[in-house]
Amino acid sequence: MDIPRIFNITESAHRIHNPFTPEKFASLGAALRLETGARVLDLGSGSGEMLCTWARDYGIIGTGIDMSPLFTEQAKRRAEELGVADQVKFIHGDAAGYVSDEKVDVAACVGATWIGGGVAGTIELLARSLCTGGIILIGEPYWRQLPPTEEVAKGCLVGSIADYLPLPELLAFFGHLGYDVVEMVLADQDGWDRYEAAKWLTMRRWLEANPEDELAKEIRAQLTSEPERYVKYTREYLGWGVFALMKR
Ligand code: SAH
Repeated sequence: MDIPRIFNITESAHRIHNPFTPEKFASLGAALRLETGARVLDLGSGSGEMLCTWARDYGIIGTGIDMSPLFTEQAKRRAEELGVADQVKFIHGDAAGYVSDEKVDVAACVGATWIGGGVAGTIELLARSLCTGGIILIGEPYWRQLPPTEEVAKGCLVGSIADYLPLPELLAFFGHLGYDVVEMVLADQDGWDRYEAAKWLTMRRWLEANPEDELAKEIRAQLTSEPERYVKYTREYLGWGVFALMKR
């Protein structure tokens, strides 16, 4: 079981697979007022940076599930490196439908809401693992500027304008689902650069090391077109944030 190989190549050097930086994850952890021993579940945990640093800085106990064997392996190595391997556990698997045996204080899905079939379904899924009074974390894109045309949405690699909401509408949507938005930390354009621009050097080095690979042509084409596409569209139009929610 794995995610499409292209992501394992372009994001192989990423510790954080979204527009957040280490500082943003630290702010989020502080904003949530995490207590030592708090239990955190993370669906689509990637290379484990959120759980590992929160275990180190705030003493949380965490479980992450991710479908990429490479990212899961990196997460386990990161836990060893930060000396928190006894506090965090990383499971390789499909997080769709995953409900923890023991209820958690924080249930998160940070940049992978397709796992529950969208924001609403993911909130419902996370709620099944959550203790009374617990916090749900959703990491999700929103329109920083509404694209004037569907062409612009496509330029952002988004299927259609309707796939995301502007920020006020996204917050209102959480309200319609019966949740209070109790905290949020938003990514910025520098964070987007760390996520997107970091792929370019990875692609360049991978191409030099793997010129005969079956994906070499596709990666070459991406490296050629991505920088311009990214600054013209994604960087200008797409926002991203993590929203902390509590049931009303
Ligand atoms: N939350 C992480 C990773 C976000 S990227 C971070 O902030 O860095 C999205 C992640 O979802 C990737 O690591 C990908 O491997 C994982 N993923 C995609 N589909 C999944 C599924 N069905 N079950 C579990 N993980 C999945």
